[in-house]
Amino acid sequence: MKKEEKLEDKTEETKPEGPKSHKLFYLVVLIFLLSLGWFSWAVWEKVIPHEKLHYHAGFIVVKDNQIVDFSKPEFMSFTSCAVAGAKEEETPEQLQIEKAHLHDEIGDVIHVEEAGAKWGDLFTNLNYPINYNEVAAYINGKKVKSIQNMPIKRYQSAIIFMGNNQDTQKFLSQAVTKEHIEETAAKSKDCGSH
Ligand SMILES: [Zn+2]
Ligand SMILES: [Zn+2]
Repeated sequence: MKKEEKLEDKTEETKPEGPKSHKLFYLVVLIFLLSLGWFSWAVWEKVIPHEKLHYHAGFIVVKDNQIVDFSKPEFMSFTSCAVAGAKEEETPEQLQIEKAHLHDEIGDVIHVEEAGAKWGDLFTNLNYPINYNEVAAYINGKKVKSIQNMPIKRYQSAIIFMGNNQDTQKFLSQAVTKEHIEETAAKSKDCGSH
């Protein structure tokens, strides 16, 4: 038995493992890794549906003691969702619109589909100029300064007062609720599934 073991050891030692077989081995590993990389990329690109950034928040604007109606067609976005998934073709204008826009003729739930959205982007995109020095702005019931520079966060609820308002407390209690945001997002037909 001992002799046989020794013989086996010897044959392994004397196996010709020249630099050629090493090269072949590395080549095979390289090809394998490249294939794996390509395969992962293909699965990521073609098979897994791209999780596009998409979340919602609520807002109302009160001007001279009345809620501004943003549900009119001129405030709606009809284009941005159609280009979803075709990122490389999006123009800077489209990317700006995607930061914050409205759908489905619902004027108090914002769709955010691009990173870096600030509250100012919403009113820029709605083409609704606001003099931010003359407004009182609230997010989730708390008064905030320079709301235009604050990021829009998921399920936030903003109220902006401008002009002469007597019923501030009443309007604050009418802030868009998370339930309304969720309900609206679930029903949205312009954006498909949420
Ligand atoms: Zn959209
Ligand atoms: Zn949406």
